[in-house]
Amino acid sequence: MQVIQSTKLANVCYEIRGPVLEEAMRLEAAGHRVLKLNTGNPAPFGFECPPEILEDMLRTLGDAHGYGDAKGLLSARRAVMQHYQTKGIPLDVEDIYLGNGVSELIQMSMQAMLDDGDEVLVPAPDYPLWTASVSLAGGTAVHYRCDEQSDWMPDLADIERKVTDRTKAIVVINPNNPTGAVYDDEMMRGITDIARRHRLVICSDEIYDKILYDDATHTPTAAIAPDLLTLTFNGLSKAYRVAGFRSGWLAVCGPKKHAASYIEGLTILANMRLCANMPAQHAIATALGGHQSINSLLLPGGRLLAQRDATYEALTAIPGITCVKPKGALYAFPRLDPQVYKIKDDRQMVLDLLRAEKIMIVHGTGFNWPEPDHFRIVTLPRAEDLREAVGRIGRFLESYSQP
Ligand code: PLP
Repeated sequence: MQVIQSTKLANVCYEIRGPVLEEAMRLEAAGHRVLKLNTGNPAPFGFECPPEILEDMLRTLGDAHGYGDAKGLLSARRAVMQHYQTKGIPLDVEDIYLGNGVSELIQMSMQAMLDDGDEVLVPAPDYPLWTASVSLAGGTAVHYRCDEQSDWMPDLADIERKVTDRTKAIVVINPNNPTGAVYDDEMMRGITDIARRHRLVICSDEIYDKILYDDATHTPTAAIAPDLLTLTFNGLSKAYRVAGFRSGWLAVCGPKKHAASYIEGLTILANMRLCANMPAQHAIATALGGHQSINSLLLPGGRLLAQRDATYEALTAIPGITCVKPKGALYAFPRLDPQVYKIKDDRQMVLDLLRAEKIMIVHGTGFNWPEPDHFRIVTLPRAEDLREAVGRIGRFLESYSQP
């Protein structure tokens, strides 16, 4: 029989919405209530759309039904440009591409860059869309290790060791999903030095740049290394809690002279998808320019901070579980001590947890972490719900073992 599926998909995995989610949906269809802690989607947990964004979209909706510019609405791109200019990053409106979320732009950026066999350095653990997009574009994701013993900081020696003559780019996710690590400027200088020495493009995923806890601060990579070509990704899904509106941007920062053909390719891909969702583009200027309502969720007494704390405390109260306290983003990535928990197949473990407790988390190997000894949980439910969910996970693990 003819094989219909392309071999291009052979190494493409995205486990956050993989077979475990299919089982969760089967359970829901059978009448069970499942607590889904698999995606960083604020809306189902009672986070409302900031009213100024909603008002702006409603006001402009009547004019947003036509195709727009392939790169995006000029006023929105100008707002993105000004946003980076205030951070000391020079940009032109032509350097900005708007997309249906960062997801679309990540895929376009890799499709325009990679030939078969080209390599991209990707963190382990990673947000798996990066590895999947590299693979789909014909490239090879070479994973560099982030070190849990050092608060999940990238291992610079490991990065350096893994550069080859096929390496084209390095991906940095800061603040990090899934670990919650936030890199200081010294770490970023270490990474950008390697990129400079080996002439690597930097892909800087900064979608959680405004979701910071305690004393953490974030500097855009393009501000640390203005002499390097840096593709900066960001959008409205997280800081503005409107993931369903699908609105993101890619800013091509740094020297562009040697990247002219790449930029041409990126523009062809933008043209081919005609334009990004127009109504959400109208919200970008309002979002970036106005009151940043995310801040009050992160201050002492703020909902996101309280939920991060509740998750961390509940997880670390379970014997055999340790966790680096997240400094940013919307997740925790705890470790299950292999001396205590005999888990060979972590996807099977989360499937068994789902069937037993009706709680869905994502296994660590789904984030390209090499050992079956981690999982990721989102910190979006209310603190009391998180405490209860983590307590149930702990009780499940107490008597869990794999043959
Ligand atoms: N990058 C990271 C690190 C993410 O965690 C996510 C979503 O969870 C995305 C990109 C995709 O975001 P968007 O909704 O803009 O497509």
